[in-house]
Amino acid sequence: TSDPRPLAELSREELEAFATEQRTAYDNLVAKGLKLDLTRGKPSADQLDLSDGLLHLPKSTTAPDGTDTRNYGGLAGGIEIREIYAELLGLSTDQLIAGGNSSLTMMRDTLMYLWLHGGVDSERPWNREETVKFVCPVPGYDRHFTLLEWFGIEMLPVPMNADGPDVEAVAALVKDDPAVKGMWLVPTYSNPTGDTTSQEIAERLTSMPTAAPDFKIFWDNAYALHHLTPAETKTADVVSLANAAGNPHRPLVFASTSKVTYAGAGVGFFGGSKENVAWWLDHLSSGAIGPDKVNHLRHAEFFGSAAGVREHMAKHRALLAPRFAAVEDALTDELGSLGVATWTKPAGGYFVSLDVLPGTASRVIELAKGAGVALTPAGSAFPGKVDPEDTNIRLAPSFPPLEQVSAAMEVVTACVKLAAAEKLLA
Ligand code: PLP
Repeated sequence: TSDPRPLAELSREELEAFATEQRTAYDNLVAKGLKLDLTRGKPSADQLDLSDGLLHLPKSTTAPDGTDTRNYGGLAGGIEIREIYAELLGLSTDQLIAGGNSSLTMMRDTLMYLWLHGGVDSERPWNREETVKFVCPVPGYDRHFTLLEWFGIEMLPVPMNADGPDVEAVAALVKDDPAVKGMWLVPTYSNPTGDTTSQEIAERLTSMPTAAPDFKIFWDNAYALHHLTPAETKTADVVSLANAAGNPHRPLVFASTSKVTYAGAGVGFFGGSKENVAWWLDHLSSGAIGPDKVNHLRHAEFFGSAAGVREHMAKHRALLAPRFAAVEDALTDELGSLGVATWTKPAGGYFVSLDVLPGTASRVIELAKGAGVALTPAGSAFPGKVDPEDTNIRLAPSFPPLEQVSAAMEVVTACVKLAAAEKLLA
């Protein structure tokens, strides 16, 4: 029944009528007493069920190479799972370590090693620098920013574009300031925009001159294999690019099976140049004797091969794609013609990034809460949790059942419309 014209074209009277209509629609939604949640970027129970074969593996705790996986040792992780994931990540097996269940913990450990001891190409430990700064593509992953905050590392936001971070902005920040020691990047289906960094941008990032001799790209490939369409976007081969550019130690690669098998009992990976891997293991050895190799072996048996991982991911896609389609359909049907929102149409990953009229994101989230729909807090995807434009909302449709995604999106779109009308009338 709404006027489908862009709201900016409506007369004040028309806009007031629109606002009244939206207020009624919203009140009706509130009256339903819903309790829904679009905040959780985690796999649904039916996705986790796909990996229950793990519970009956490994068939034998003796690995093919004779290792008794029950015992201490093997700091770099089980060779079988490293072979499979090295192939998937475009690394050689000796460029990849398999660790515990969380790659985020491996990122924190890496920062800790850099902080206390410096990297293979550092002049001194990072904690001896007066200030340390990181380039942060935004919107980005909130936990990356929380981690930097915990270290007291200053964050320099740059825009994330469809083909990767704004590389001119990055190059300008790193060129003259030796305090800029690193950057985050989720290169494939980034959190939350779903953007994939192109080969060209990856080439620039690995070859750009940096004032810091030990500049690091934290290449967090959390969603490398998490395609939502049959077209499987390939990640740029950052380690080879960096090698070719004469900066072999710049990229630090992270990945995990958190959204492949079990988010709470998967396998995390760290990769990079052989020197970086040796550096990492050297520091790890001060606090570890060996990782959970039983888990490594059962994962290797469960997948069988790199192709086995890809086949497994297609089963995730079958469960996730309809949920993302429900989000896209709701946004297009309800907001498509109103000119009050733009959003991403990710080909993979776990999120849709919705941009509403500047100054209305927190109002939309507050309205949604009033109607029983939890949305990720405004500003979450920005350093310090401050979205300077108050425009971005992260939608996470993976966890709720499909019908709940649709019901929640009905609320989200109603709130976007109401908040927009309020804003334009203010
Ligand atoms: N990196 C990104 C970009 C993520 O979105 C997430 C989880 O949401 C993680 C890392 C966490 O990875 P892990 O479960 O391996 O610690």
